[in-house]
Amino acid sequence: MVVLAGGVGGAKFTLGVRAALSRLGAPEATVVVNTGDDLWLSGVRVQPDIDSVLYALAGQNDTGRGWGRAGDTERVNAELQAWDAGWPWFTLGDLDLGTHLARTGWLREGLTVTQVVARLSRRWPLGVRMLPMTDSEVDTHVVTADGRMHFQEWWTRHRAKLTPLAFENPGIARAAPAPGVLEAIAGADVVLLAPSNPVVSIGPILAVPGVRDAVRAATRVVGVAGVISGAVVRGMADVCLTAIGVQTRSDAVAAHYGARSAGGLLDAWVMAEEDADLAPAVAALGIRPVVAALWMTDVAASADIVDAALSAD
Ligand code: GDP
Ligand code: CA
Repeated sequence: MVVLAGGVGGAKFTLGVRAALSRLGAPEATVVVNTGDDLWLSGVRVQPDIDSVLYALAGQNDTGRGWGRAGDTERVNAELQAWDAGWPWFTLGDLDLGTHLARTGWLREGLTVTQVVARLSRRWPLGVRMLPMTDSEVDTHVVTADGRMHFQEWWTRHRAKLTPLAFENPGIARAAPAPGVLEAIAGADVVLLAPSNPVVSIGPILAVPGVRDAVRAATRVVGVAGVISGAVVRGMADVCLTAIGVQTRSDAVAAHYGARSAGGLLDAWVMAEEDADLAPAVAALGIRPVVAALWMTDVAASADIVDAALSAD
């Protein structure tokens, strides 16, 4: 199985993938994680989505806050602010900074991003193989009426309040999929699109040259809706969808990914019970609708969603 995932939503879903696979006694899954959110800050490489998935699989994530390490402190961050270094609105926890320093050191020694992620995967038994989408540095920029900025500035500093006109990944056309990504997709019985942000989490992964075609050629592709009752569960995917002209509605997101039979990606779309009335519209697109409970309230609930996705044939 291959899962394409962003950060927090992708992490919750990946926990369900691991649990569902262990229930089935089935082997290995690979999660291909968005790296379009990555940034350099105070001299260290920060990979928000990689770390969200890593910490969640390791059981080290702060479930209350929704990001970062459980029990983290901010002593170094306070010093950085006192020096007027970095971004005052972007907190780097002390334990989290340990990860960033380790990563940056390995990058400086010449390891690729894939090799760094493999090293980060050694400390805790993750049960799932993590791959970055690419070894290249690819940013996500948000174009607004007030100028162009890094995605993290738009999201964390401006709280997504500046209306986005476009999302861009400069240089992505020259990026290559990380080693193993295309092979994993080609060898998978099923590729799952996590209920992650379709624009800034799944979008960049599919935009890495070769990935979309590989997914289109995969054995089976099932997407899971991150939109329930016309709203996102958390985050700013609604604002992102509006910017690319897609309504925040389950059938509209399914249409955005498209039916494989019509040049798109999806064989099936797992949609929320609350949206059951939209199932005929999804079927009319040539995508098999699968209606399920989509609130990832705990690992068991996420695993049930994965089971529903696997039940689609
Ligand atoms: P980020 O990179 O941290 O922003 O996280 P992702 O892109 O991986 O996930 C964000 C998406 O996950 C949002 O669009 C949410 O609507 C979706 N999401 C979060 N929690 C849930 C949930 O419990 N159920 C479903 N179906 N989607 C969820
Ligand atoms: Ca993200």
